[in-house]
Formats: sequence, structure tokens, C-alpha cells
Amino acid sequence: MEYPVRERLIDHLERDTMVEGWNGGRILPWKPADLGKLSSPDYRFIDVSSYTLPDAIGIQSRRGCAFGCTYCTYGYLSGARIRERPVDQVIRDVTELMSLGVSRFQFVDSVFNAPEKYFEELLEALEQADCEISWSAWIDENITRKQLERMKIAGAVKVDFSPDAITDKGLKMLGKRMKAADLLPAVRSAREAGLQVGINFFNGNPSEGFWAFLVKIWFMLRVRLTLGWKSTFVNIGTIRVYAHSPLAEYLKRKARVDEECTFFEPVFYKKHGPGDWLYRLFQRIRRMRHD
Ligand code: SF4
Repeated sequence: MEYPVRERLIDHLERDTMVEGWNGGRILPWKPADLGKLSSPDYRFIDVSSYTLPDAIGIQSRRGCAFGCTYCTYGYLSGARIRERPVDQVIRDVTELMSLGVSRFQFVDSVFNAPEKYFEELLEALEQADCEISWSAWIDENITRKQLERMKIAGAVKVDFSPDAITDKGLKMLGKRMKAADLLPAVRSAREAGLQVGINFFNGNPSEGFWAFLVKIWFMLRVRLTLGWKSTFVNIGTIRVYAHSPLAEYLKRKARVDEECTFFEPVFYKKHGPGDWLYRLFQRIRRMRHD
């Protein structure tokens, strides 16, 4: 007999078993919510004054992602179509944070400049609201200098790019839409618009090893030295493979993990050899500098 969801969940927790295989790994059947009908978050529920790091408080203006990067689970978790909240509800969140004394937040959307029409509408509403609050957002490289300037006028202080790879082949393997040559002009435009910029890469991602790591280091030095050491940040991480991502399926197909692997225990996609040694050394030096 099928017993209620709550009891089933408690049962799994008590027996320390996975919900994999139960409803495709989901607690409840998934269907995309109409975001306009959901209640707005009540930020008074938490003590926002204790969140002091710059991007510690988030506002979500849309959910889901249509871009399907091979390591990402957003499409699985929130749907492979971007669903937007009504712009006035987003502005309500912004003004509520302001009234609570928050001076900076982050738009935690998958890609803030997509879809373009909604992006422009939201920028216009932020401009009109004329809020005295700063924000940051994740964007992709398909953005114009004029749009970046509008972001700045609307309160943006920082943008993050996530190309993750640095060669055309590496980008293709990660399912990215951009070309390697698109990155530098986008970073430069963002800096010229007066924004701080973060750029995120992986090390040892598919089709990229030792040489690509050196190119990433070179890119980091180049942008930091020419576009502002304290305003241009480069992060190089490692891919953690999550269940339900295309990369997880690929690893299973290639028998690089067991067929039964749930990815609940961390699995990282990395290559062994000189690229990995150099990467570890780089991370060690970085940690020493920041400790
Ligand atoms: S990595 Fe970003 S752009 Fe790619 S699918 Fe995930 S959320 Fe979308």
C-alpha cells in the first residue's frame, strides 16, 4: 500500500536510504509553478544584519535554465525553460531588503541577461525604482556594452561570467553557446562600464588539461593586470558531478563510475597528471595568500 509522502520520507531518513528510484529521485511529482502566484519571500523572517558578505543575500527573479550545460542540474531541478516572476514582485523584494537596511544583494538567477526581453524590462523597472542598493548578477557573454552600462545605472556593481572552459573544444564539451574569442571582449566591456568582474573556470574539464590550465592562468594575469587587479577576479575550480546532469550519465556510459553510483558521495571530474599537480600547487599558494 502506498503510504503518505511524509511517512515515506521519514522512513528513508530513519533507514538512511536514498530517495533515488522513488518518483525519479524527487520527493513530490515536479511541475513548474506559476511564479506570479507564489508568495513573495518574507525577509523579516531572518536577521539580515548578520549576512555581511557582499553577495550573501539573494533575490531570485526567474527559475530554470534553457541552456543545458553538461555538468549542470538547473534544468532538472527547476525546468529546462526560464520562468520569470512579475517584475513588480521583484522590485518589491528589492525595496523590502532596502527597508531592512541591506546595502547589497545578488540576483541568484541562472543567467540574468536571458531572456533578453525580460532582462530589459527588469532593468527598466530597477532604473525607475531608483533604489539605493547595489547588486551583482551572473550573466553570459552575449551582452552589449550598452546593456552593461544600463546594469550599472540600475545599481549593479559586479557581474560574474561562467565560461568554465577556455578553448572552443572545451566550451563545446561543456555545452556552452559561446566561443572562446567572445570572453575577453565581454569582460573588457563590463570593466569599461564600471563593473567589477568575476570569471569562473574549471580545471581538468573535458578536453582541457595541462595546456588549457596554463592558458587560464595567463588569461587571469592578463585581465587582472590590464583591467584592474582589485576589480577583476578569476576563480578556477573543479567540476563536481551531480546526479541527473548529462555529465553524470556520460560517466556511467563510459563506465568511469559504477552503474549504481548515485553521486551522493562527491564525485569530481578531473584528470590526473601535470595539469592536476599544477592546479593543486596553484590552489595551495592561493590559500596561503588568503589565510
Ligand atoms: S551552468 Fe548556468 S547557463 Fe549552464 S545550464 Fe546551468 S544555469 Fe544554465
